[in-house]
Amino acid sequence: MIEKKQFYINGEWVDPIEGRDYDVINPTTEEPCAVISLGGQADTDAAVAAAKAALPGWMATPVADRITLLENLLAVYMDRGEDLAQAMSVAMGAPIDMSRSAQVGSGSYHIKNFITAAKDFAWEHPFEDGTLGARISHEAVGVCALITPWNWPMNQVTLKVAAAAVAGNTMVLKPSEESPLDAMVFAELMHEAGFPAGVFNLVNGDGVGVGSQLTAHPDVDMVSFTGSTRAGKLISKSAAETLKRVHLELGGKGANLIFADADEKAVKRGVLHMMQNTGQSCNAPSRMMVEASAYDRVVEEAAQVAAKVTVGPADIEGRHIGPVVNETQWSKIQGLIQSGIDEGARLVAGGVGRPDGLNKGFYVRPTIFADVTPEMTIANEEIFGPVLSIMKFETEEEAVQIANDTPYGLTNYVQSTDGARRNRLARQLRSGMVEMNGMSRGDGAPFGGMKMSGNGREGGAHGIMDFVEIKSISGWA
Ligand code: NAD
Repeated sequence: MIEKKQFYINGEWVDPIEGRDYDVINPTTEEPCAVISLGGQADTDAAVAAAKAALPGWMATPVADRITLLENLLAVYMDRGEDLAQAMSVAMGAPIDMSRSAQVGSGSYHIKNFITAAKDFAWEHPFEDGTLGARISHEAVGVCALITPWNWPMNQVTLKVAAAAVAGNTMVLKPSEESPLDAMVFAELMHEAGFPAGVFNLVNGDGVGVGSQLTAHPDVDMVSFTGSTRAGKLISKSAAETLKRVHLELGGKGANLIFADADEKAVKRGVLHMMQNTGQSCNAPSRMMVEASAYDRVVEEAAQVAAKVTVGPADIEGRHIGPVVNETQWSKIQGLIQSGIDEGARLVAGGVGRPDGLNKGFYVRPTIFADVTPEMTIANEEIFGPVLSIMKFETEEEAVQIANDTPYGLTNYVQSTDGARRNRLARQLRSGMVEMNGMSRGDGAPFGGMKMSGNGREGGAHGIMDFVEIKSISGWA
């Protein structure tokens, strides 16, 4: 078993001061695959102190030099892609091919976009306010606590670390205790890329320990958090005491509006996007809302697509979906599938229990419910598993009303060949992202939510903007 108990603080790997052992469980085998250490207050303090000490020097480093270090990071990231893919696959269960392509690929994609955006970013520009030499400058917020989840680990880590670093911030990363191994490889990459000691630090820990200590720490200026809405609320409260900037990327319950005139691949796309990463994506299109005239046809097609989704071990190559991350999630998903049955939704694919022949491992059957109504639990709760709810609507107005009738507001999707309708809906849907006739955004487009899905924007220039202070400089003769 891998033993990786050290933390990366002030440019070196150090033993924990207050650590306690934690087994990382491989969701394919249900057995431990690594032992790490969860730190305590003294470890958090040491990492924050290193970040604070490094801040003046890093803020004074020219942006061009910071960009060069991001370019170095991209190069070493590509070289170590296989190590990152294996680390994610073993700890959070992404099938190895998907881990190599989508999981690792999302990280390199973000680093590349930040390099481009940082080169184009107006770090300092003149401002006409009638005074001499007036200008607006964008500078670092300070010491940032970066707290990430396990579901798209490198996606989240690079979105935060690369943006914070290029903007001149120093940082402490606390990755999810469910998927810490990839983040530890990433810390090696930050070292190899040549970031000065203290700019980037990593401490492993859980939410009640290192997570809470970071959010309450007086020397932390900003918290950037991705994870559950539950933890996001706790973090906001904890950070309020020291009035830190808090950037939250939280859960979602995306609606995918399928109109009768949608293109012929729309249903397949919607089902497969829901099942991707075993349904463990905050922007999953988990409510497929279908225009009444197309409803029966869509339900039948969706069931057929789901029946062809195969499930299997994460260490086997292929296009299957893997297990979910842990037993807690597995049990929660089973309970929600059961609630769908009990509350009268019509099961058209999957159901409770493990898929045939997979008795060990946190496997879930790709599941589709039809005839889901807005008051049902599965229409409201974020399931975070391969479970799709199909709902019917009669009019466009009703579709918008149901889609917006959720505390979340991360991503909604519209599938229709009517351009005027797409434009109307893009304005009416209350979510940070609306993706039409597809399930993705263009390069560098900002990612983030409204309402209980959070308040920040990540990726590209908007992602850098979240990690800067705007300074107004004016002068009189
Ligand atoms: P989680 O909230 O349990 O944990 C996320 C991270 O926060 C972990 O590192 C955890 O240790 C830490 N944490 C937990 N409680 C904390 C606290 N009180 N103070 C400080 N840190 C704390 O979430 P998860 O189960 O790891 O991830 C799944 C959730 O993340 C889902 O709800 C999903 O929708 C959301 N998510 C959102 C986005 C987005 O960009 N909007 C992206 C991915 C995942």
